Amino acid sequence: MTEVVDRPASAPVMAGRPVPDIRTPPPGPLARRHVAFDHRFTSPSLPRAYPIVPIRGEGSAVEDIDGNLFLDFTAGIAVSATGYNHPRVTAAIERQARELIHFSASDFYLPIYAQLAAELDRIAPISAPTRSMIGNSGTEVIEAAIKLARFVTRRQYVVAFLGGFHGRSYGSVTLTASKAKYHAGFGPLLPGVLHVPFGSGGLDELEQRVFKRLVPADEIAAIFVEPIQGEGGYVVPDDDFLPRLRRLCDDIGALLVADEIQSGAGRTGAMWAIEHWNVEPDLVCIAKGIASGMPLGAMTGRAELFTWQAGHHGSTFGGNPISCAVALETIALLEEGLMDNARERGEQAIAGLRRLATSQAAIRDVRGKGLMIGIEFDSGETAEAVQWAAFRRGLLVLEAGENVVRLCPPLVVSASEVDTAVALLGEAVADAQRDRATLLDQARRWMDVEDTVDG
Ligand code: PLP
Repeated sequence: MTEVVDRPASAPVMAGRPVPDIRTPPPGPLARRHVAFDHRFTSPSLPRAYPIVPIRGEGSAVEDIDGNLFLDFTAGIAVSATGYNHPRVTAAIERQARELIHFSASDFYLPIYAQLAAELDRIAPISAPTRSMIGNSGTEVIEAAIKLARFVTRRQYVVAFLGGFHGRSYGSVTLTASKAKYHAGFGPLLPGVLHVPFGSGGLDELEQRVFKRLVPADEIAAIFVEPIQGEGGYVVPDDDFLPRLRRLCDDIGALLVADEIQSGAGRTGAMWAIEHWNVEPDLVCIAKGIASGMPLGAMTGRAELFTWQAGHHGSTFGGNPISCAVALETIALLEEGLMDNARERGEQAIAGLRRLATSQAAIRDVRGKGLMIGIEFDSGETAEAVQWAAFRRGLLVLEAGENVVRLCPPLVVSASEVDTAVALLGEAVADAQRDRATLLDQARRWMDVEDTVDG
């Protein structure tokens, strides 16, 4: 487990230290103590992947409470697009905080809210004029899209895809179909939601089964799709799927809603993943990376669809001025080079991982676009063991789907950091091949650390 291996000579540094730099095998004593404290007071529904207890970050590096430095290829679940504490992001927060921290944009006219809506109009994957409803999170703007789709079409049914993840509030969790546990015990869910498989086969099912036997096509308000599925396992669809989905929506008069919450904001090397297939949605849902970690979501769509009137939808906090200021700065940084970096570093990572796959039989597939990369393993247990072994070696990655490890680093990640991550993953996969049972035992036991810490 502590075997020393070849790492690229130009390993990145934070405050003069190489990254990663594990001084105390994680979780260290302070992390264990903190986890016990956390478990006493926080909701047990929080799905913690492993016991990283971060206290500060810089670029792609994160320091934990025990002073270990980790190379972070999770970016707070595809959120910290500009890396941790980008100086321009920090400056935007400070500037805006000194001027105005809150003034509800729903009830009054907040200049920066409209300014961000205009920027979203400029960058949206929609050539027609657009409008935006700005909120605080991904799930919130999915709810807004369900409401607007039903309102404007006066139809009640909504279609989503198996394996999709759209959030955890009632409407969005009904669309979510990546794991049954997200629905467990919470029914009845939102009525009028149908699911079909992701990909062209799902469109066959809609046309040949659903529209013939279950629901008339002219009662479908909208079809929600992640252009590349995120939580479901970083699944890239077949090339016919999205163009054909666009044609289908046009034929039946349903809205095509692109959930770009995970795949958007430059992560795939284009501003929006759907652009890789030259398809325009009617509505696009945006969150996560667009504001570099400040809470912000947006539903942006063709202006003519916004037929609802004052009071039909709003939010006290939605479009908070600090979040808007950071979104504007993030968009500038993405366009000034981070999107290009995502494409280049993504190609580098995929090439390195595919080389690794030739010598590691446990890797079944390496896929993705830009810095949205999935590594599929022979089993969920292997993926879990690799995630844990990577953590112990100082690389943060996150499982997705049933047997996939996802890589979604900050878009500032450097070439040497990518090399370091690929080398560490190679070591982690080798660890998992050698001693999967021990790794799984360690990974699952940390949940009980409060039994072992003193004080
Ligand atoms: N949609 C997608 C594709 C997501 O990945 C997520 C979150 O992981 C959401 C929606 C929900 O976003 P939030 O957690 O901000 O509510």
